[in-house]
Amino acid sequence: MNLQASEKHTHLSSASRRQHQDVDCLVLSELNPLVVVDHLDGEQATLTLLTFGNVREICPKCQQGNLKLVLRQTSVRMAHLFCADCESCFDARYADGAPALTI
Ligand SMILES: [Zn+2]
Repeated sequence: MNLQASEKHTHLSSASRRQHQDVDCLVLSELNPLVVVDHLDGEQATLTLLTFGNVREICPKCQQGNLKLVLRQTSVRMAHLFCADCESCFDARYADGAPALTI
């Protein structure tokens, strides 16, 4: 059920130019969670993240968790990958620098 996006990507790129050799090879870079997610002041603020399934990448920081895809939503400013184990956020790009998470 996952990775409809990569299917689409493959289709598009094979139509125009030769396909990126490896769609699955993503470059992950850690993001500051304070930048990615709105942190509300006040004690009643409970942050609820909607995730959209696991991706194949393993967290590069703790090497434990499968990263989860988090798309933009109420308190999330940009799509990113999230590790629930160490609570880190990562940006994902293709090897050529194109953002991998924009839809
Ligand atoms: Zn982690």
